[in-house]
Amino acid sequence: MSDKLQKILFQNANVRGGLVELSDAWTEMLSHQAYPTPVIRLLGEMTAAVALLSGSIKFNGSTVMQIHGDGPVRLLVVECSNTMQIRATAKLNDHIPVQETDTFSRLVNANGQGRCIITLDPHEKIPGQRPYQGIVSLDGRTVAEVIENYMKRSEQLDTRIWLAADTANAKGLMLQRMPAQLDEKGAAITDSKDDEDHWHHLVALASTLTANEMLATDIETLQHRLFWEEDMTAFDALHPVFHCSCSREKVGNMLKMLGHAEVNQALKEQGALTINCDYCGKSYTFDSIDCNALFSPTITSDPPSGTRH
Ligand SMILES: [Zn+2]
Repeated sequence: MSDKLQKILFQNANVRGGLVELSDAWTEMLSHQAYPTPVIRLLGEMTAAVALLSGSIKFNGSTVMQIHGDGPVRLLVVECSNTMQIRATAKLNDHIPVQETDTFSRLVNANGQGRCIITLDPHEKIPGQRPYQGIVSLDGRTVAEVIENYMKRSEQLDTRIWLAADTANAKGLMLQRMPAQLDEKGAAITDSKDDEDHWHHLVALASTLTANEMLATDIETLQHRLFWEEDMTAFDALHPVFHCSCSREKVGNMLKMLGHAEVNQALKEQGALTINCDYCGKSYTFDSIDCNALFSPTITSDPPSGTRH
């Protein structure tokens, strides 16, 4: 269990945060897919960021971040559950090749049409409940900046994120300023000027970190190196793992949503349908008998009425 998410709290500064390092989970995610280096860097940064966000939210469900790109990358998706099961995938645009020197903007926001969607998807949905979803334009030159701007605009939270990724590691550090604690009269308990100074001090410390230093150093060492003089609490580490929640049933439901006519057409062309999971590479095959079963009426104990359910 080398992969770790370490949540931290600076009591006197009203600032919380976290550090994450993903090595086993990250290399396992990459083993199912082959991406050019700039895409690996981008997806790795996103993966570290989503782990940090998921760790900072008290919520029984999954945090999903999607970037819909308008350049060489069409889609990036990272999903992390509150139990730190994480998966990620990227879809490239066949018509626009990735260049080695591609920046974040070139990859996903070449024409300014890129979008970022953050979804909180509860595990146990109340009937009719829809997941919470925020959609923003890609306001920023990096994944970190997009999330920082998102948190500021939609959650009114000052957030700073530092991210780094290569083929072996995905790492991140997040600092987040919590809303001031109020006394019963509604006045801020802490001196807001002090809070402000503290926040800038912590951000200045973290800003000394370079991507190379981050990739080469374990998070305990980084945490100590940056914050050894600070009054800080580190909580028990969480251990993110790669896990894909795909199943034959979910793929079947997806085929049902496509509709009987479309599935029949595809069956006619291909004989059987094989769907590969983008996240874990598992393959699911549905022949005509499987497909017919999907679209036949469910057998229930209700008296036959001739209607389909
Ligand atoms: Zn899967």
